[in-house]
Amino acid sequence: MSLDLSTPLQFLKGVGPRKAADLKRAGLATVEDLFYRLPFRYEDRSRMQPIVSLRPGARAAVLGEIKSAKLSITRRRGFKIFNAVIGDTSGAIRCTWMNQAFLVDVLQPHLSVVIFGDVKLDSSGLHFLNPEYEVVSDDLTGVHTGRIVPFYEKTGVVTPNMQRKLVRHALNELPAQIPDMLPEEMRGRLQLVPRRAALEESHFPPNDALLETLNAFRTPSQRRLIFEEFFLFQIGHAWRRHAAGTELKAFVPKVDDRIRAAAAKILPFKLTAGQRQAIKEIVDDMQRPQPMHRLLQGDVGAGKTIVALLAALVAMENGLQVAFMAPTEILAGQHFGTIAKLLSQSRFRVDLLTGSTPGLQKHTLHSHIERGTTNLIVGTHALVQESIKFHKLGLVVIDEQHRFGVAQRGALRAKGLRPDVLLMTATPIPRTLALTDYSELDVSKITDLPPGRTPVKTWVKPESRRDEIYQTVREELDRGRQAYIIYPLVEGSEKIDLKSATEMADHLQAEIFPAYRIALLHGRMKSDAKERVMHAFAAGQIQILVSTTVVEVGVDVPNASIMIVEHAERFGLSQLHQLRGRVGRGQFESHCFLMYQAPWTDDARERLKALAATNDGFAIAEKDLELRGPGDFFGTRQSGLPKLRTGDLVRDREIMEDAHREARRVVDEGGLAGDLLQFIQQQWEQQFGLIEVG
Ligand code: ADP
Ligand code: MG
Repeated sequence: MSLDLSTPLQFLKGVGPRKAADLKRAGLATVEDLFYRLPFRYEDRSRMQPIVSLRPGARAAVLGEIKSAKLSITRRRGFKIFNAVIGDTSGAIRCTWMNQAFLVDVLQPHLSVVIFGDVKLDSSGLHFLNPEYEVVSDDLTGVHTGRIVPFYEKTGVVTPNMQRKLVRHALNELPAQIPDMLPEEMRGRLQLVPRRAALEESHFPPNDALLETLNAFRTPSQRRLIFEEFFLFQIGHAWRRHAAGTELKAFVPKVDDRIRAAAAKILPFKLTAGQRQAIKEIVDDMQRPQPMHRLLQGDVGAGKTIVALLAALVAMENGLQVAFMAPTEILAGQHFGTIAKLLSQSRFRVDLLTGSTPGLQKHTLHSHIERGTTNLIVGTHALVQESIKFHKLGLVVIDEQHRFGVAQRGALRAKGLRPDVLLMTATPIPRTLALTDYSELDVSKITDLPPGRTPVKTWVKPESRRDEIYQTVREELDRGRQAYIIYPLVEGSEKIDLKSATEMADHLQAEIFPAYRIALLHGRMKSDAKERVMHAFAAGQIQILVSTTVVEVGVDVPNASIMIVEHAERFGLSQLHQLRGRVGRGQFESHCFLMYQAPWTDDARERLKALAATNDGFAIAEKDLELRGPGDFFGTRQSGLPKLRTGDLVRDREIMEDAHREARRVVDEGGLAGDLLQFIQQQWEQQFGLIEVG
């Protein structure tokens, strides 16, 4: 029987039903499963040393003949010791194995063997202790020794050696030609190693391969397999994007000089180059017949709001409605304030609808939205959850989008007639994750900041320096500035933390800052109470805002110039960066004190150091990904992270970029047919462990 990739492992030589069941439990059902579980490291056992040259302490391989072999049993405790003497033309050495009596049958005199292991010295001389061994036979030379040897992760009862042997068997029986889903043109252009050879060499590298390159997963063969996996993942996204592009939106806005003039009129400042580029990309999209599906990334304070508002203006000038969603009521309220002010001279009506809008008012708002008298509606999730009908919804803006569930995104889009969708995030998304979670989106980035910002100075300080830091706060307040003091809210211990924030606020007011006005803000407060506090802080009536992380996103008080983060060691890197973005928003030099309590982990130390070292959100995001790993970056809940067999999102990020580019190219140039199309339709989601992503 000839083997192919779909052959169940039980048909492999030497695999009985029992072993097949073990393999299956370890996730290995077919030959393909076996091949695509790559070694996690490699060891060079290729260079045979003359026995005479062996030195104690070395790790070495020798090839020789078994001169003699003997099993002995120690009197004390009945240890079974197997000794064999191996000789080559230069000399001989003893090999000792403890409690492996069966070796009597395996390592018989006169056989040729390769021995690999650590050379030891004791009173009876040089020897190998428990070395790897392999009888050199004609049909199966060098699987475990005498070559660069693959090491596999142990899974279940499947040992690394067992896997190595199985892979070797399977490769031996695999035909010289195997099907390949990667388009031929692309394989040629990118000079990809043929699939068959890539499999062979990723498991059993030729002896001239560089160990270091192998262990970094950077040989052409390894890269080919990783690329293959990433490409198959990306082709699914590219295909969906392509398919979505064939749906047309009901209303296609146009931009003319009148609209440009209207936009110029509401602009309170000159846009940065980054903002201009972003708005150009967005407005170009809006004028296309297909719905826009774009992610606008820009660090905290980069000025995304005005960009979104200009897009909104284009929609409204075309007679379309705009929905503007934010993750919290505070933020929705703030957006509403900003937008209403900027549009106050225009003919457009802006409304605010949140979970705490009173029932009667809500009712009226619904009918305004339905009749189209509301041009722009700002709100929270309530905009999605309630049964609002729009008159002519043209654009949906979703701020801080990673906080919205995928379903909510989809639900809102479904309300309108395939409106344009603009997602915004100030959590810069590492490039690889943007290419996986958001692969179907187009991405605009604002990488510059409005002029006149001085970067926030960041200090990592132990708690013992508290008094000094408080003194610095006093000095800032006396100069007329304001301060944030942030407490962590760890999930699960919300009550305790809340208590500590509340107690801290009282303590600070009574004992530390009696002469200053302090207020507390936390997530459990009623939203009108929250709003009152935020307004008072924004208006300068409150000097110190003691808060949990509810201030994290988007809150804008330019006069606030100092921040203390308590228990900074508990926060994630991106979250700290977000928090820090609350200061440094005006013309004043700002300071952020990251206060930690010992003991802190090495990870925490590295996080805080990284944060102090840079203000570049994109660099911080990459670091965060590196420290936390992709699964934790957003929290797995909403992420469309693929289940991968060979690739690693952090290690292989540039391969993902290539795969993304190539997949789009393939789909855009020729559409899809044959194997690839079938793969996407039948296997894609399952293979990558994905649920429907809106
Ligand atoms: P984010 O990207 O974090 O949402 P915002 O849109 O809230 O940032 O903008 C941050 C602050 O910068 C706001 O006070 C806004 O008015 C101001 N701003 C935005 N763009 C500019 C600009 N081009 N010039 C001057 N100030 C700007
Ligand atoms: Mg914002």
